[in-house]
Amino acid sequence: MAHRLTVIGTGYLGATHAACMADLGFEVLGLDVDEEKISRLSAGDLPFYEPGLEPVLRRGLESGRLRFTSSYAEAAEFGDVHFICVGTPQKAGEYAADLTYVNGAVDALAPLLRRPCLLVGKSTVPVGTAERLAETVARLAPAGGDAVLAWNPEFLREGFAVQDTMHPDRIVAGLPDEQGAAEHAEKVLREVYASMLAADVPFITADYATSELVKVSANAFLATKISFINAMAEVCEAAHADVTKLSEALSYDDRIGGRFLGPGLGFGGGCLPKDIRAFMARAGELGADQALTFLREVDEINIRRRIRMVDLARQLLGGSFIGRTVGVLGAAFKPDSDDVRDSPALDVAASIRAQGGKVTVYDPQAMPNARRAQPTLDFGDSCLDAVRDAHVVLLLTEWAEFREMDPVELAGAVSERNIVDGRNALEPEVWRAAGWNYRALGRP
Ligand code: NAD
Repeated sequence: MAHRLTVIGTGYLGATHAACMADLGFEVLGLDVDEEKISRLSAGDLPFYEPGLEPVLRRGLESGRLRFTSSYAEAAEFGDVHFICVGTPQKAGEYAADLTYVNGAVDALAPLLRRPCLLVGKSTVPVGTAERLAETVARLAPAGGDAVLAWNPEFLREGFAVQDTMHPDRIVAGLPDEQGAAEHAEKVLREVYASMLAADVPFITADYATSELVKVSANAFLATKISFINAMAEVCEAAHADVTKLSEALSYDDRIGGRFLGPGLGFGGGCLPKDIRAFMARAGELGADQALTFLREVDEINIRRRIRMVDLARQLLGGSFIGRTVGVLGAAFKPDSDDVRDSPALDVAASIRAQGGKVTVYDPQAMPNARRAQPTLDFGDSCLDAVRDAHVVLLLTEWAEFREMDPVELAGAVSERNIVDGRNALEPEVWRAAGWNYRALGRP
């Protein structure tokens, strides 16, 4: 394996990709503009929570195959393949994606590329970005046509990032139109991913635009599935039906399937919300906005769950949060992650606080990020600490620690035994038997 890889942007995606590629035997140089991140990664200290990743990182460092830098000159000199893994967040006040970081990475790297190499975009970008960046590379790179760009969208899930990187469901390679460049890019990508291809992971080649669209349409589908079941939850609430039973019954139909069909507080995080909004914005620019109007509904159903959660809690407290204590369990947007970007849990906590409630939040891993994101909230050191003297307890992220809570032990800490299960993660009968007033989204 002759290829030396650089990974530009070492956040959730890039740090995982860099460590896993080193584990597969490649020499890897990770690059980030965040010096603190680089020094922590270089010391084997993962700057975020991801189960199973830190040992892979450390193994890479100890083997000498994995290093980190903030120098683009060093990366350009080192790499045969440059993976672009920088963030593409939502623009402030708009639906569109902010491409400042992707553009910045290519602008910084391209002028330094003095030998043949492949640039591989992994960030989630609006369709048309790869074609534009390929022109930038051709214009800026001294190596000219010897610097080729491919797009290889990433599908990993936080919480399962190592598993998903090592054993992806599929590998998508968006290739340039020019035949020679496309053949070269495909050959290099097949070599980089050889161990996965040997395990029969499907390898799909496409043009740039299709490859970019695979990623955003996958996220649009997943968001739609979640909002579909949450729309059913709204109807169940009106009809006094039970959405968890409904979802279970639907899940046995192979055509529907049970994954992403869990009713609750809805989706959040650094991907689904911003990706469906950027997709709508881009479709609008392309004159195809009508095709995606349903995604506006998907987004609104999702946001309505948060409002419903707050309403349900307020109702349990007799109509007002003022002078009332609320224990919030969960801050991360989902379990097994410390990511609080667009977190439904923190959104609900902040909204209750804004309505006069005294809110104390606890999360097993996301406390530092949550404190930074919502400094005016109170935080507890443990689950029991967060619910102490609470008039209502809200379960907003379904960590195993919360699923396994003992209702009797918790009852000893609270002021009133009111619980709202925002993730349909608890057994209602068990909680009711322990004297709790158990409520959940989409259930009678
Ligand atoms: P992140 O914010 O955790 O990491 C992005 C990193 O890029 C940061 O460390 C930042 O300092 C760095 N960066 C910014 N500008 C840079 C530059 N010019 N040069 C070098 N580094 C720079 O974001 P993330 O969650 O890792 O997401 C990265 C991309 O991957 C996004 O497009 C996202 O949509 C996509 N993605 C993320 C996931 C996920 O689960 N997090 C999954 C699939 C795809």
